[in-house]
Amino acid sequence: MRPAMRRWRNNASFSLLLVFFLLVPLHSEAQSQVNFWETPLPVFELHSGFWINLHHTLYYEARQSKAVGSREANVDKSATPSAKQVPPAKPPLAAVEQKTWDDAVSYYAANYANKDLLFTTELIQLKDQLGDFEDCDELSGRKRKFCDAGLSPNLTQVLEAVAPVYRAHFWAEHDRANRRWILQVAPLVREQGVGLSERLADIYQTRWPHQKIRVDVVAFANWAGAYTTVDPLRVTIASLDSRNQGPQALEVLFHEGSHGIAEPVQTAIIRECRQRDKPIPRDLWHALVFYTTGEVIRTVLTSSPAAPQNKGGSGSGNGNGYSAYAFREGLYQRGWKGYLELLQRFWQPYLDGKATFDDAIARMVSSL
Ligand SMILES: [Zn+2]
Repeated sequence: MRPAMRRWRNNASFSLLLVFFLLVPLHSEAQSQVNFWETPLPVFELHSGFWINLHHTLYYEARQSKAVGSREANVDKSATPSAKQVPPAKPPLAAVEQKTWDDAVSYYAANYANKDLLFTTELIQLKDQLGDFEDCDELSGRKRKFCDAGLSPNLTQVLEAVAPVYRAHFWAEHDRANRRWILQVAPLVREQGVGLSERLADIYQTRWPHQKIRVDVVAFANWAGAYTTVDPLRVTIASLDSRNQGPQALEVLFHEGSHGIAEPVQTAIIRECRQRDKPIPRDLWHALVFYTTGEVIRTVLTSSPAAPQNKGGSGSGNGNGYSAYAFREGLYQRGWKGYLELLQRFWQPYLDGKATFDDAIARMVSSL
């Protein structure tokens, strides 16, 4: 980040300017250049960047095109839930634009569609790189040297060729959806962000990252609707995914952020398993992170004036009408039922201050 922007961070006039950009639709040419930068929020910096959105849209389309009638369609259906997105109606493209678009999708289908956004180093680096170059209207450095993103010549050519088509027909809508998502979650982050980050760091017996966590808001993310990569710690969240809307947006944000601080849990689980000669359960730490974020967010949402009104009973992650993500999306029912019982029995007392971290983990592991 440039020092000048950093100095602006807490500047009131910059906030106003940003609110202006958020609320006033800009001319499309200007809009592609105006980056969202960061709203003056604590804990997270939220971006809606052009190239990273184009990248994920092409990846999404390439996956879709490969899934139609292919073996992969069956794999997707049986193994992992697919993205819960209703793609916006596709705008009509002129023949030459359609050809450019199809070529780019084919390139992604051939090179990336079989690779996982979360587990493939190449795709992680590419995503981070495209995020960093959100201020550039090119990636080759032809016009401005500092806009040389250092990508392969083939990919640079594909992205630069398809960029005008994306800009003309998709970007305005995607950017609007991203900004809407950011606007929806911003008041709660502003009001509760610091407290939540401290509470979660406390629970995981660590510190929340000193620097704000960069979040790239994109129209399409991966099959899960959001994912987090580390070193550098960055979150990608789909603004059009139905699972990420309403009060759940805050939970998704902090769940993803928790991926950066939950390592002590995994370390403790592994240690306890080794001591007992037990196989290390693959997803227990992740179920624990889902459970914990859900509980912490539920508590906050029931007391926050900035929260959308929630009314109702309590229990099962459903207190005061707030349905925690893992309950709502059926994660426990789909194979984590045993984990839920362990979490409610041994981890919840720790969250309530009635047990220690080490005891809670040890008891969970010994009951596996
Ligand atoms: Zn997760």
